[in-house]
Amino acid sequence: MELKKRLDHLLERIEKARLAYSRHHIVRLVAVSKYASLEQVQGLYACGQRAFGENYIQEFGRKATSLQDLPLEWHMLGHLQHNKINKLLELKPALLHSLHSLELAQAIDTRAKEPINALLQVNVSAEAQKSGVALEHALETYAKISQTCPKIHLQGLMAMGPLGGDEAQIEKAFSTARDLFDKLPNAKTLSMGMSGDFELAIAYGANLVRVGSALFKD
Ligand SMILES: *Cc1c(COP(=O)(O)O)cnc(C)c1O
Repeated sequence: MELKKRLDHLLERIEKARLAYSRHHIVRLVAVSKYASLEQVQGLYACGQRAFGENYIQEFGRKATSLQDLPLEWHMLGHLQHNKINKLLELKPALLHSLHSLELAQAIDTRAKEPINALLQVNVSAEAQKSGVALEHALETYAKISQTCPKIHLQGLMAMGPLGGDEAQIEKAFSTARDLFDKLPNAKTLSMGMSGDFELAIAYGANLVRVGSALFKD
């Protein structure tokens, strides 16, 4: 299928899920370009897509630099190592989705010259291999980051459904993330939902979905 058709189809599915949830709910799409070539990113841009997400700093840098003449909005989604913080800050992402600990937040805060928007990544399905703050520490960590890291502008949460989970397990993870989100003061972004589960995520109040394979893979 050509790129424009895939995007149109995806937008229709997002719109349907959005209306089923609430007419007043707005859902942002971040096109996850980790499987995509520069040409494909340019192709989606030509269809009107502006927000793109990457997992690795090096690839993010390569794409953002090559496409710097386009008014794109870049999101950093992947696990961030402390030794990549300076590079991340140079790239000025629109939103860092993968802030996974107080230590990382403080390390970024110390180095940042300008404010950076971020989401606290919460490991809602308590998977050992997944990054993110443990659920039981999430509220406290969110509050601590807000209080001690003035350069980090926390906007809400990022969560993922369990890898290979069935629908009930995914629902449980999304519902847990939503409950937590509702307890946060002034949080506005709930980033959850990928190609396989974004409709379910929207049903639980996600207002930003991160979709890669449904756009870029056969
Ligand atoms: C790869 C990735 C996505 C997109 O996943 P797809 O299943 O390809 O849509 C979303 N979020 C994160 C954090 C990812 O690593």
